[in-house]
Amino acid sequence: MRILIVEDDVKLVDQLRSQLQSTGYVVEVCHDGMRGAIWIREGDFDVIILDLGLPEKPGLEVLREMRAEQNATPVLILTARDSWQERVDGLKAGADDYLGKPFYMEELMARLEALIRRRHGQITQQLEYGGITLDLDTHIAKSVDGVEFELTGIEFRLLRYLLMNPGRLVSKSVLSEHVYEEEQIRDSNVIEVYINRLRQRFGKQFIKTRRGQGYCLQAEGCDS
Ligand code: CA
Repeated sequence: MRILIVEDDVKLVDQLRSQLQSTGYVVEVCHDGMRGAIWIREGDFDVIILDLGLPEKPGLEVLREMRAEQNATPVLILTARDSWQERVDGLKAGADDYLGKPFYMEELMARLEALIRRRHGQITQQLEYGGITLDLDTHIAKSVDGVEFELTGIEFRLLRYLLMNPGRLVSKSVLSEHVYEEEQIRDSNVIEVYINRLRQRFGKQFIKTRRGQGYCLQAEGCDS
């Protein structure tokens, strides 16, 4: 899962970043509204945390613009003042949720998870496809035979992305975007290594390769 934080409070961003990274998110950060708008336009994010009081361009304007451009990525607004008018304005401009500062990190995490679940039409904290399950809280995956695997960070992020997009052909570059952060070196060969590791655990046929195009969880209409 790839998350964008648009927030000018550097201290808060540091806290958010480390918390989100430890939960398995790929985190990108912008400190002003202008840059935020560009990132939102160019990046493929699963959820966006947007502050309203931002330099260069107010958060509300960033939000209105992205919705006008038909960008439906879920947005959670952070507001320092937490006044009811601001919350109403934010929701009317297209926010999916809001949280007033100061907030409890646990509440923010729960709200983000709920937004992502809703976006993927998923009801519980467990993903399932073809008899393979992944628990999003414990990072434990279970094979068809019931064998449990505690996944490493990259394995978890990779499997989670695939399970949230079953049947969809995903390229190596899309996968590496959702597994690594901007400043990390993205090596598509590494993706291959991890894909093979997942195959060893969950069955050779579980993830199909389409030569030169990418990977796909085995499903109809995506035969290689
Ligand atoms: Ca601010």
